[in-house]
Amino acid sequence: MTAGIERIPSIICGDITIKSDQPFYIGGPCTIESETQILTTAEHVAEQGANAIRGGAFKIRTHPESYRGLGLKGISLLLRAGQLTNLPVVTEITTESQIPQIIQEIENHNNHPLIVQIGSRNSQNTPLLNAVGKTGLPVLLKRGFGNTIKETLSASDYITQGGSPVLICERGIRTWSSESGVGRFTPDLFSIPLLQKEGFLVIWDPSHSTGRSDWVESTALAGMAMGSNGLIVEVHPQPEKALCDGAQALTFNQYSTMMAKLKQIKTILK
Ligand code: PEP
Ligand code: MN
Repeated sequence: MTAGIERIPSIICGDITIKSDQPFYIGGPCTIESETQILTTAEHVAEQGANAIRGGAFKIRTHPESYRGLGLKGISLLLRAGQLTNLPVVTEITTESQIPQIIQEIENHNNHPLIVQIGSRNSQNTPLLNAVGKTGLPVLLKRGFGNTIKETLSASDYITQGGSPVLICERGIRTWSSESGVGRFTPDLFSIPLLQKEGFLVIWDPSHSTGRSDWVESTALAGMAMGSNGLIVEVHPQPEKALCDGAQALTFNQYSTMMAKLKQIKTILK
């Protein structure tokens, strides 16, 4: 731990406290596409035991012609979904200029709790990390897919310097395995205990690491078996029609099955 920078082992987000004794499950679509899509998905994941609703509105896409999200309108829909389910929301921001806009939307929605996500591709964008840290909002920091543990800890220090608490998310790294075409990223589950040892709560993203829905459930269970403090999982009412990351999105039924299994392994892992 860097001298002088305090890391926070529990994170307060609205009425809930994220702690190591209860898994924190985030579920929702990769990207907010419409009111119906986000509201129905939020309701479903909430019913199945999710603790927060995810949804991207400002998407970083590898190709410029890919769908890049609804922007602020999406944030507003996500906050409405959070209000309806009474759950915090999680959404990525990609530029400093979005910060005041997000804060305004939070105020417009009765200060509904929101966790700011910093995506893998921005996890070494130090001016952005610094600026987000100054908001005091909880931050979900994704590990950069080419970043070491040490670099991830440094990224977190940029955020905590400003005062925001940080929850780290492992989401897989780029290795030879991804080059072989078996999956987009390699689950680096060892980072979970390593980052926890540094005083962090760490959650696991089986969606972006596998890139395919048929591997999400088993990879989710593997992460929990490794001691993860929770999961962030993509879910879509009609994955085949999703505008982003459809191949990895769980259907509602698949999400229900996964959540039921997670409940069962929780008692075994205790
Ligand atoms: C996401 O969570 O939608 C996302 C783009 O994740 P990552 O930054 O890990 O690729
Ligand atoms: Mn996604």
